[in-house]
Amino acid sequence: MQARYSFFSLARNALGYHENWPEAWRSPEPKASYDVVVVGGGGHGLATAYYLAKEHGITNVAVIERGWLGGGNTGRNTTIVRSNYLWDESAALYEHALKLWEGLSQDLNYNVMFSQRGVMNLAHNQHDLRELQRRIHSNRLNGVDSEFLDARGVKEFCPIIDLRQGGRYPVLGASLQRRGGTARHDAVAWGYARGADARGVDIIQNCPVTGFRISNGRIQGVETGRGYIEAKKVAVVTAGHSSVMAGLAGFRLPVHSLPLQALVSEPVKPVIDCVVMSNAVHAYVSQSDKGELVIGAGVDKYVGYGQRGSLPVTEETLAAICELFPIFRRMRMLRQWGGIVDTCPDASPIISKTPVQGLYFNCGWGTGGFKATPGSGWVFAHTVANDNPHPLAAPFALDRFTSGYLIDEHGAAAVAH
Ligand SMILES: Cc1cc2nc3c(=O)[nH]c(=O)nc-3n(C[C@H](O)[C@H](O)[C@H](O)COP(=O)(O)OP(=O)(O)OC[C@H]3O[C@@H](n4cnc5c(N)ncnc54)[C@H](O)[C@@H]3O)c2cc1C
Repeated sequence: MQARYSFFSLARNALGYHENWPEAWRSPEPKASYDVVVVGGGGHGLATAYYLAKEHGITNVAVIERGWLGGGNTGRNTTIVRSNYLWDESAALYEHALKLWEGLSQDLNYNVMFSQRGVMNLAHNQHDLRELQRRIHSNRLNGVDSEFLDARGVKEFCPIIDLRQGGRYPVLGASLQRRGGTARHDAVAWGYARGADARGVDIIQNCPVTGFRISNGRIQGVETGRGYIEAKKVAVVTAGHSSVMAGLAGFRLPVHSLPLQALVSEPVKPVIDCVVMSNAVHAYVSQSDKGELVIGAGVDKYVGYGQRGSLPVTEETLAAICELFPIFRRMRMLRQWGGIVDTCPDASPIISKTPVQGLYFNCGWGTGGFKATPGSGWVFAHTVANDNPHPLAAPFALDRFTSGYLIDEHGAAAVAH
């Protein structure tokens, strides 16, 4: 039985100099066989395992992670959470996720530091304005909070933004989702891991999945760095490595893996209390609780598996940030890193059964899957448990690439966010 985190447990452990906290999750030896093996210990994989156990009573589950929990895109993103997507299918999925975010810390008994500080998308020209206004109307029809700010409203909401005429990127207005914000990304992975472990899920780190055993079109199990593991069902949630995994299973995915980078500045006093994004200049910024500016850039325009990102993209992003926020011009950048994002042609995810029975894929979240983590895990767990897509996941099945029923979210997902 896992200890609950509370004020009282904090006080009790303070008396013991915090030396007696129990481990947050076990590190068991893998069993020979599981009902479900989840491949990938990022936020989406761990959330899938958690909801399989919690919502569907399936606890004979292993999460197999080749590195460490959250070491993929989950621990590398800029933590922006919002649900203001254009099409009905996406709005329903991301809004479901946002509602789960709103109660997630309580549900997991783990503080994921979800902060609804408001996310603003800037418009720099007439086209941006029209795109944002179209999206705002669509959001409202779907019950998603979204409002328009003119230039004065932008300045009131974020006073440090430079609105003087003649700038390279004039700001004509913005959309604002007040319920949007940020969360602490590694806490999300750890919270789901702890919650899944408490319900009996085995979490196995440092164990790559190297192949699938398939017989008569049906999954039998996975080959791993620690031997063969039999599984009735296998759920693959490996983000940038999804097309590699699909190749191992003998089919192709319409997914490109691209490097996407972010960086943080030296810490400063609170200076910006919202999230500002600009699709046009490919830059977005917020401030972490430690005081660092958290800055995201666009993707490198080539397929790659290096978790770095190239210098010209960094330079372009920082130039745009300095134009919009002259107050940041003399700040120093502290760290830079990259992740590998799995992008689909319509900028929407794949949550789907596959040509192999009992094998499911959840991928293609590209530059914007962190915000979907709880909703993605929720609908994918349902899909795996019932061998039938959750109604919110059904439009995101693989067959949309042959039926032509694409969900084009390039406008809402234009930059990494
Ligand atoms: C720089 C950057 C900024 C971003 N900013 C945002 C943002 O602000 N908001 C937002 O919503 N989204 C953002 N994203 C996107 C978001 O991070 C991802 O969409 C999301 O985290 C994907 O989660 P995941 O669990 O699917 O993937 P990951 O966290 O990448 O998890 C996949 C896991 O699979 C493991 N794996 C891979 N191959 C194998 C194998 N063979 N065997 C076992 N395990 C394997 C990996 O090690 C990894 O841990 C950003 C991404 C990046 C890189």
